[in-house]
Amino acid sequence: MEHTSTREWLRTLVAFDTTSRNSNLALIETIRDALAAQGVASELTHAPEGGKANLFATLPAHDGATQGGIILSGHTDVVPVDGQDWSSDPFSLTEKGDRLYGRGTADMKGYIAAALALVPEFLSLKRAKPLHLAFSYDEEVGCLGAPVMLEALKRRGVRAEGCVVGEPTGMRVVVAHKGMNLYRCRVHGKAAHSSLTPRGCNAIEYAARLICRVRDLADEFQSRGPYDDAFDVPFTTMGTNLVSGGIAVNTIPDACEFSYEFRNLPGMSPDGIQNRIEAYIREDLLPRMRQDHAGARIEIEPMPAAVLSLEASEHAAITRLARALTGDDGTTKVSYGTEGGLFQSAGIPAVICGPGHIEQAHRADEFVEAAQLDACEDFLRRLAGSLVD
Ligand SMILES: [Zn+2]
Repeated sequence: MEHTSTREWLRTLVAFDTTSRNSNLALIETIRDALAAQGVASELTHAPEGGKANLFATLPAHDGATQGGIILSGHTDVVPVDGQDWSSDPFSLTEKGDRLYGRGTADMKGYIAAALALVPEFLSLKRAKPLHLAFSYDEEVGCLGAPVMLEALKRRGVRAEGCVVGEPTGMRVVVAHKGMNLYRCRVHGKAAHSSLTPRGCNAIEYAARLICRVRDLADEFQSRGPYDDAFDVPFTTMGTNLVSGGIAVNTIPDACEFSYEFRNLPGMSPDGIQNRIEAYIREDLLPRMRQDHAGARIEIEPMPAAVLSLEASEHAAITRLARALTGDDGTTKVSYGTEGGLFQSAGIPAVICGPGHIEQAHRADEFVEAAQLDACEDFLRRLAGSLVD
């Protein structure tokens, strides 16, 4: 079996335009075939709408054991390059000095490339525990792929002791991130000529009250906490970022739609926050609306693009191992979401540690430094080494 380096793997992976709106199947099949050539079988779990798949593969322990061990997790999709001013082709790996440019080099094909390049070494080690590769689709549009994979693992009874999600952290150990929750709200009132206000029910005005309620809650979290100073923004944030309604300046609008989000600290329950919004609607807003119009309604629906928060335990073996391998004992908590929260909620302790920097992700001229890839290889090599008897 010919050895493929991390750099060669990265060149291959970057060349697939796996922007989330596209299929990732060609990339997944390439990985599946490369693993199969080394005797490693992959389980593909497909998106319900087709065109995309997750890949899960187990490199068994020397005695054939497939339970336990550590998962190396990465997402295969990337964010769009639309409207960005790139100095080189984003889907062709371009080296300049110590930097390797291309969409996904940092977020997060570099990590996947390093893991794949090391598979022959992983296989040659006399490991007491298995290593697993978990590569997902549609992370960038709200972690849609990983739950499909985790559901299949649960059905098959696959267990693991820990997971390293290789999002770009500059190879530091990230132990926590906030959750992200997005809701769409539709307010239904009653249309009328704007000269006859008592005959209508103004959906925009009631939507505005609800939007202000969201803001009041946001102000409460900012002024009263809870706080966690390890985060950039040390409290739960909340806001309305999209709104539409009305059809004419002289017509009372019968509909208004808006979307609000909140990003909760790991210790705060997203349901608890959402319950406060819904209690306000039920007990205050809707009764008032129905005085205008008995048929008034407010519908709220959670959007699929939700990210569970992550808070890794310092006592978890995977946290201690990642800290030992990197020498990083700092408490780093980040504002971006990852699939780590999903693994954690599936009973698999997770930490975030990967090559490249989030500052370079999602932008034009995204890059990863060769030194970061080297550090990642070194990390993964020693991580696998820790599984040897
Ligand atoms: Zn990412």
